Amino acid sequence: MSLKRKYRVLFLVLAVCLVLGVVGFVGYHGEWWYPIGLRLRSYPALALHVADPQTSTSTWSIETLTAREDVTLSNNLLLVNASHPLPEGYEAELIEYNGARMHPLMQEPYIALRDDVQAKTNVRIYVASDYRTAEEQAEILASSEEGIAAEIGCSEHEAGLALDVYAPYFGGKNFLRSRAGRMVNEICHEYGYIIRYPLGKEETTGISYEPWHVRYVGAPHATLIMESGLTLEEYIDFLQPGVWYATEGYLISRRASDDLALPDGWITCEISPDNTGYYIVTLKMSM
Ligand SMILES: [Zn+2]
Repeated sequence: MSLKRKYRVLFLVLAVCLVLGVVGFVGYHGEWWYPIGLRLRSYPALALHVADPQTSTSTWSIETLTAREDVTLSNNLLLVNASHPLPEGYEAELIEYNGARMHPLMQEPYIALRDDVQAKTNVRIYVASDYRTAEEQAEILASSEEGIAAEIGCSEHEAGLALDVYAPYFGGKNFLRSRAGRMVNEICHEYGYIIRYPLGKEETTGISYEPWHVRYVGAPHATLIMESGLTLEEYIDFLQPGVWYATEGYLISRRASDDLALPDGWITCEISPDNTGYYIVTLKMSM
C-alpha cells in the first residue's frame, strides 16, 4: 500500500470514529435531543366531542351520589397552581407505598407504570419526592430557584397527587438522559399520569419544564391531555360547564354541584372537584 493510500485509509478511519463519537455523545444526552423532538411534535385536537346523551336523566345530589358503591369521589382532577391554591382545610388522602406517600388511587397505576417502564427499558424508576407537608414545601421553595418550586399551598405535592421520579444516576434535569425517563414521558398517560409541567407551557402552568414530575388525573383524562399536548389548566378550561363530552367508552362533564343530572346506563362514576368551583364527572359507559 502506498503512503498516500495509507493516509487516506487512516483519515477515513478517524472520520468514522469522529462521527460515531459525536453521534454517541449526542445520543447519550437525551436531555438535549428529546425536547427537540417534543417541539417538533404536532398534536391533534382534543379527542372529545359534544354529546347529547339520549338516555333519561336522574338528578343526584353530591351526597346521594357519593354514598353509592359504584361512585368514587376523589381529587384526581383538582387544579392546583399559583392562582388555584389548595382549598382551605384540605387534607390529602394518603397511603404509603415503599416509603412514598400518595393518594390511594395512585398506587396501583404507579406500580403498573414502573413495571412497564422496567419491562421496556430494563431500568427501574423510583420516587424522589412524594407528598409534602406545607413545611416541607416551604423548605424546598426556600432552596429553589424562582419558577422551579410552587408557592406554599400551591403544590401538587401538598395535594398528594404528584410524584417526582428518577432513574438510578439520572434524576431531575438528567432524567431524560435515561431511556427509562424518556419512556415515563411517553407512556405515563396509559396509567393515568400526565407530565404536568410540559415543555413550552411555562406561561400556562407557571412552572418550568419538569419531565420528572408526574401528576395523577386518571383515565381517560391523562390520555386526552397528553395526546393533545395540553396542560391541566387548558383541559379544564376546554370543558364548558354543563356540557357532556364523549370519548371512547366515557362521558365527561364539568358540572355545578346542584346540576348533577346524569344520564343512566353508566358502569362507574367518578367525581372530582376541579378547584374552580365545579365538579368533573367521569362516567364509564362500557367495559
Ligand atoms: Zn414535583
